[in-house]
Amino acid sequence: MSIEPLGMDAALCFIGGKWCAPETGQTLDLINPSDGSTLCAIARGQAADIDAAVTSAEAALASDWGRATAVERGRVLARIGALVLENIEELAQLEALDVGKPLTQARADVVALARYMEFYAGSADKLHGATIPYLDGYTVYTLREPHGVTGHIIPWNYPMQIIGRSVGAALAVGNACVLKPAEEACLTALAFAELAHRAGLPTGALNVVPGIGAEAGAALSAHPGVHHMSFTGSVGVGKLIQTAAAQNVVPVTLELGGKSPQLVFEDADVDAALPFLVNAGIQNAGQTCSASSRILVHRNRYDEVVSKMAGRYGALRAGPALDDLEVGPLVSGRQKEIVEEFIAKGADLEVAAQGHVVERAPSGGAYVAPTLFTGVAPDHRLAQDEIFGPVQVVIPFDDEAQAVQIANGTDFGLVASVWSENGARQMRLAKKLRAGQVFINNYGAGGGVELPFGGTGLSGHGREKGFEALYGFSSLKTVAAFHAEKD
Ligand code: ADP
Repeated sequence: MSIEPLGMDAALCFIGGKWCAPETGQTLDLINPSDGSTLCAIARGQAADIDAAVTSAEAALASDWGRATAVERGRVLARIGALVLENIEELAQLEALDVGKPLTQARADVVALARYMEFYAGSADKLHGATIPYLDGYTVYTLREPHGVTGHIIPWNYPMQIIGRSVGAALAVGNACVLKPAEEACLTALAFAELAHRAGLPTGALNVVPGIGAEAGAALSAHPGVHHMSFTGSVGVGKLIQTAAAQNVVPVTLELGGKSPQLVFEDADVDAALPFLVNAGIQNAGQTCSASSRILVHRNRYDEVVSKMAGRYGALRAGPALDDLEVGPLVSGRQKEIVEEFIAKGADLEVAAQGHVVERAPSGGAYVAPTLFTGVAPDHRLAQDEIFGPVQVVIPFDDEAQAVQIANGTDFGLVASVWSENGARQMRLAKKLRAGQVFINNYGAGGGVELPFGGTGLSGHGREKGFEALYGFSSLKTVAAFHAEKD
């Protein structure tokens, strides 16, 4: 199948409303993780291309896009959302080929991207300031204004969802965006630029420059013309981006992953919890920032939970993305090596169950059998480090205090969930758990376009998703007008 079904050229950048070759003319190979073959060439953008993209974004702010009203911004976002949905199959295929995501999961990402466009279309004309009572003779009010040019560096695991939540919110406020997708997976970012253009997004409001992180990504995060940086990815790169942005005193939103726990109490409805316990660990082959990689279980229900999870793990199949099984390949051979090294670190642990890689899976693909470890000490590396693969650990606890201590006992704080029928405990733990999102008797809540998302500690700072994101992508101006009474 053609990998350019949407009229974009994968080997080019999208700058100023046009497809253009990177200044050096260099390209990179994009690999299909399902079989290791080369899908196509992508542009290897560099500092000069980032510079051109920032200039184009500045020009957009000085012309049509900068003059667009909130209603007009909302309308164009709504049209983009509609076009995304019209092209659901093409986009899902691109994502499946590029990321290795099983088709059903890739389709869900397209729907989520469309939902972000719908949500931010509807919110564009609802972001407003406040009036503030002040001294006699004053009228004081606040204005929510765009930062200007916003930089977006996104990872390869959920390109469409992350474009939706960050570029969608930034555009709703009236910023002009420069997007640097990941070198491992950038096809849907390019397709999105084409669709946005077709939907009538003014020239320069969205520019996409693919390339290597240390080149195009570093150039974007250090560019003095960028007024806000949002980044989703690894902790190490997040620190580099915050450091680079600090040189220009630019605000940064960082979403850096986690080691998110689900706490299963003695009174939990284990059968209701079960699909959430497992799916939150193996969705997208575990390559999810908000993956639930730690399952904490009250000792009285421990054997039952382990045996029921093991039953599900035994039935998990990993295979090519287009076969649409429960688990696809990891995004790359490098990621497979990283996950295999983690699994090797669990040699001292008990493997309760493993899924299997289907026989027809090509040998060049990046497959790892989903693995469930039990009897894991809370300070074990597998219980502390973000693995980013289909690996979960189950940890027993004896009481609520110990459960909280273990749950909060990593450097991360992104998501947590509580499985319990006890209302007082639910409320207590919602306060005590160190996380940006706490779910009660569910996990992930259906994608959560509307739900503010972000972390504490090494999980990062700032909030994306929901209406809250609009505050991060805007700058607040206070206007104090003095008009002394005249009688
Ligand atoms: P992963 O390790 O999961 O690939 P990364 O944090 O390395 O995640 O990558 C996430 C995004 O950050 C990608 O778009 C990548 O190109 C970009 N990136 C990597 N290194 C840098 C860097 N030094 N500066 C800016 N962006 C970078």
